[in-house]
Amino acid sequence: MRILLTNDDGVHAPGLTVLEEIARHFSDDIWICAPSEEQSGAGHSLTLNRPVRLQQHGERRFSVTGTPTDSVTLGLRKVLDAAPDVILSGVNHGANLGDDITYSGTVSAAIEGALAGIRSIAFSQVYTRQWTGNAAFDTAREWGPKVLAPLLDTPLPQRTLINVNFPPRTPETVKGIRAVRQGFHDYSRGTVVEGRDPRGHTYYWFGLDAIEHTLDHGTDLEAIDEGYVSVTPLHLDLTHHASLGNIAGRFAG
Ligand code: MN
Repeated sequence: MRILLTNDDGVHAPGLTVLEEIARHFSDDIWICAPSEEQSGAGHSLTLNRPVRLQQHGERRFSVTGTPTDSVTLGLRKVLDAAPDVILSGVNHGANLGDDITYSGTVSAAIEGALAGIRSIAFSQVYTRQWTGNAAFDTAREWGPKVLAPLLDTPLPQRTLINVNFPPRTPETVKGIRAVRQGFHDYSRGTVVEGRDPRGHTYYWFGLDAIEHTLDHGTDLEAIDEGYVSVTPLHLDLTHHASLGNIAGRFAG
């Protein structure tokens, strides 16, 4: 089984090493093609206004001077001579829960994989102010193989991917794994910090505060709050089918 690894935290991120450890439980045919620098928040962006470079760091280890989507694209078209069986993205340093998903470079790399018709799974380690640093990846390292094993051969329709989050607690206190739907945060993107650069020009910097959410039963947010690994199947049909008839009616006649 050939596995392609990527992320949005960059090719040197500790979470990518953890992802490689998880993948090695299942295969030795592991390839890495990840952004050369951190791309958190890049979403599903594709670099169009400048050239992108591919750098080789080892026999099967490459970086791309672009986004996670660029990395998957070059991984599939230039690095690998045959399509991988699986694409794994992560392990992200931080949550990708609820409506974080559309901002997420980690999830978007898996979206790109799903668009290419390849089984794709995103992994993220949730952390808090009390729970941070590389020690937090112990939970992903231990629970990763347990959650990945059944996902490697479960049937997945076209344009469907899997989003996995690990809770911010020690591996032995994790309660289990739950398949749950995507939840939603109460809308807020946190603070916008305003400052002045050394030349006197105003800049803005988006803060990443803990975003409030109302816990809804059966969601990824609830599962993480209760100490479970969350597993959420996502699909790329963004059409809201229930509204289609109503909207079509407004344009009829
Ligand atoms: Mn990230």
